[in-house]
Amino acid sequence: MDKIDLTSTLDRVVGGRTAAKLAERIEVSTVGDLLRYYPRKYDQRGKLTDLAELVVGERATVWAKVVTIEERELGYGRNRSRAGGKRGVSHITNIVIADSHRRLTCTFFNQRHWSKQLRPGADAMFSGKVSLFNGKLQMSSPSVAILDDGRGNGDGVGAGAGTANGRAEKDKGASAIEVIESFPGGVIPVYPLVEGLTQALVQRCIRTVLDVLGDVVDPVPEVLQASHGLVDLGTALRDIHRPRTQEHLEAAQRRLRYDEALAIQLVLARRRADARNFPAEPCPRIDGGLLDEFDRNLPFALTIGQQLVGEIIATDLATIHPMNRLLQGEVGSGKTVVALRAMLQVLDSGRQAVMLAPTEVLAAQHARSLREVLGPLGRGGELGAPLEATTITLLTGSLSAAARRKALLAIASGEPGIAVGTHALLSEGVFFGNLGLIVVDEQHRFGVEQRHALRTRHPEGNPPHVLVMTATPIPRTVAMTVYGDLDTSILSELPTGRSPISTTVVPAADKPAWLDRAWERVREEVGKGHQAFVVCPKIGDDEGETSDDGSDLESDALGPADGSTDGPGGTSPRPPLSVTAVAQQLRDGPLAGLRLAVLHGRLPAAEKDDVMRSFAAGNIDVLVATTVIEVGVDVPNASMMVILDAERFGMSQLHQLRGRVGRGSAPGVCLLVTEGHENAPGRARLAAVAATNDGFALAEADLELRREGDVLGTSQAGRATSLRLLSLLRDKDVIAQARDDAQGLVGDDTKMSQWPGLADMVSEVIAAESQDYLEKG
Ligand code: ADP
Ligand code: MG
Repeated sequence: MDKIDLTSTLDRVVGGRTAAKLAERIEVSTVGDLLRYYPRKYDQRGKLTDLAELVVGERATVWAKVVTIEERELGYGRNRSRAGGKRGVSHITNIVIADSHRRLTCTFFNQRHWSKQLRPGADAMFSGKVSLFNGKLQMSSPSVAILDDGRGNGDGVGAGAGTANGRAEKDKGASAIEVIESFPGGVIPVYPLVEGLTQALVQRCIRTVLDVLGDVVDPVPEVLQASHGLVDLGTALRDIHRPRTQEHLEAAQRRLRYDEALAIQLVLARRRADARNFPAEPCPRIDGGLLDEFDRNLPFALTIGQQLVGEIIATDLATIHPMNRLLQGEVGSGKTVVALRAMLQVLDSGRQAVMLAPTEVLAAQHARSLREVLGPLGRGGELGAPLEATTITLLTGSLSAAARRKALLAIASGEPGIAVGTHALLSEGVFFGNLGLIVVDEQHRFGVEQRHALRTRHPEGNPPHVLVMTATPIPRTVAMTVYGDLDTSILSELPTGRSPISTTVVPAADKPAWLDRAWERVREEVGKGHQAFVVCPKIGDDEGETSDDGSDLESDALGPADGSTDGPGGTSPRPPLSVTAVAQQLRDGPLAGLRLAVLHGRLPAAEKDDVMRSFAAGNIDVLVATTVIEVGVDVPNASMMVILDAERFGMSQLHQLRGRVGRGSAPGVCLLVTEGHENAPGRARLAAVAATNDGFALAEADLELRREGDVLGTSQAGRATSLRLLSLLRDKDVIAQARDDAQGLVGDDTKMSQWPGLADMVSEVIAAESQDYLEKG
C-alpha cells in the first residue's frame, strides 16, 4: 500500500463497501474525515455506574458479569399479564447480572438470541433505563456491548475481540449488539452512531486507519504549537481515539479544540483583510444636508448611547475602510433612528442606502416609520416637498408590476434614496447603481456568508458600508466567532419614559382561574384604549410544529428549545395551540365583542400589511399571532401580551416577544401561559424569564441550557461541521487566543500563501459553513 495520509480516500484502507457505507451514513470520505469523527464520550472500566448506585428512572451503563440466564415462553392468559400486559410478547429472557456489590435483572422481550450470545460468566456492558419491577431493580431491553462472551476463549477484553468481531458481522439483524475490542488503559471510546452504523464498525475502521497512517503534516506552525504547549496533530488524532491515559486524552482535545478555534478565526481574519483590500467610498458628514435637517426636526433628544454610537458610525462612514459594524441594543433602545441617521449621512454624499428586514411586515413597518420621522424630507418627487427631499421606496412582493419596475429603474440609475425591503432583495438580483450603505435589521436571521455576499456586491468596485442591527443579545464568545468579522457597538440604555414590562407565569393547569383572569385583564387593557397581542406557537391545526417567523430564511437558531416539550413532567402531549383555533375560541368566548385579527407568515403579503397597518392605527384590539411579531414590530399603544404554550419558546425568544409591549407610556404586561406543572423543566425557564428583564443574562442562560449544537444548528450526528470539540461557552480563552494568532498569521495576505496547510483548514470551514452554523448564527 502506498503511503496513507489524511487526504487518502477511505476505500483504500477499509475497503470499498465499508467506505461507501461511511460516506453514506456520516459523510466521511477521507482518512482525515474519519479521524475527525471523534468519540462522543469515553467509558472507563472503573468509572461506570456501580450497581449499588443505580437510581430508578435514570439511564445508566453498567459493566457486569452475567450470573444466570432464564428464558420463558408465554402463552395467553395468566402469563400475558405477568409480562406487564405487553401486547405481542411471547418470549422473555431474564438475565441476572452482578458486580461485586449487587444484582440486577435485565429483561428482554422477544429477543431469543441473547441466550445464545451470552452465558453465565460473560462480561458485558448494559445500558438502559433503570426501573422498579416487583420491588426489584431492573433494566428493560438495555443495549448490550459484549466484552467477553464467557465461552472461555480468553479471560480479558482483548482476547474475546477477534471472535466477537466475526460474530457481529454474522448477526447484522441483532442491532443491539455492539462488540468492543481492547483499548489501552481500559479507556473505551464511544462514537456517535447513526442508523446503520455500529460501535464495532466505527471502532474497527478507526483502528485500521490508525494502524496504517503515516506521518501527519501539521498545518499549525511549530512556534505556535510550542508557545501554547500543544501536541502535534498526528499525536492528537491518535490520542483522541485511543487515549493511553486521561492526560493524553486531554492534551489531544486541547490541541484539536485550538485547531477549530483557529480555523474559524482565520476565516474571519481573512474576511477582515479582504475588506481592507477593497476600499469603500468615504461618506463624510456634510453640513446643511439631510442629516442636519433631520436632527433639527427630531421630536426627542437622542440618548447618550445613540449619540455615542452615532459618532462612531459617522466616523466609520467617513473613511475608506468599509464599515462592517454590529449594533446590539435591547428591544426599544432606538436602533432605527441610529440607522436612519447613518443612511442620511450617506445620502448627503450622493449615494444610496438600503435597509433590509427579515419579514415583509417589518420592512413595511420600517418604510412607514422612516416616512413618518423624515416628514417632508422623505417625500422626494412629490408636489410641495423640499428640494433636498429624498425618496423612500418599499420593495416587497405586494408592489404592482409597474411600480416595481419604476422603483428598480430608479435604484439601478444610482439616484440617491432609501430602499427598504426583505433580504430577498439581494437574492432577486436587484441592482444598485450607487450603493453606499446597507443596513440589516435583526441580524440574528442573517449569516456570515450572506453578509460576505453583501459586501462583495460592488459592481463599480467599491463595497458598501454595512451596519447590522440585532436586539438579540449575543454572548461575547458567540460574538467573537459567529459575528467575528464585525466590529461591535452596544446601545445599552432605553430612551427615557419607557415603562418596565412586568412578566408573570400563568400555570393554566394548576390554576385555571388565573387564565380566566388573564382574559379579563385583556378586556381591561382594551377598555383603557390599549391593545394586546396573543401569541401561539403554531399557525393552524393542519401543519406540523414548525415555528413561523414569516421569513424565507431558516428559522432562528435561538428559537424554541427542542426537548423543552418532553421529558418527565413536561408538557402535555396535546398538540401546540394554533393561531386559527385560538382566535376562534377567543372570539366565541372570553374576548367576544372585541376587534380581533390574526397575523402569521402564511397570509398573503398584502393582507399581512393590512392587518399590521390597522393594528398600528388602533383599529384592532387584539392581534392573535405567531412569532412573526417577534422582531421589531413597534406599536406603542400595545400594552399587553399573552403567550400561550409559553414553554415551547426559547428564553431569548420570549424576551424578544415581550419587547413588543411597553413601548409606549403605559406599563407593559406579559403573561406566560403554560400547562406544564410546577416542577416541569420548562417552568424553571419561564420563571427565569419572568424574573429578569436582562436580555444578556437570558441569552447566556439559554446557551447554557441547551446543548450548544442546537444553538449553532450542528447537533445532527455525523454532519460535516467545523465545530466539534470547541465550546463557545467554556472555551473563551482558546477563542481569544486563536483570534490573536489568526490576525498575526493572515496579516494582509488573504491568500495565506505562506501557510498552505492553514489555507486548507480555512477552505474546510467555509465548505462546512455554507451548510452550517455560521449561516444561522
Ligand atoms: P429598536 O431598537 O427595538 O429597533 P426602535 O428603533 O424601534 O427600537 O425605537 C423604539 C421607539 O422608540 C420608536 O418609536 C422610536 O421612535 C422611539 N425612540 C427612539 N429613540 C428615542 C429617544 N432618544 N427618545 C425617545 N424615543 C425614542
Ligand atoms: Mg427595531
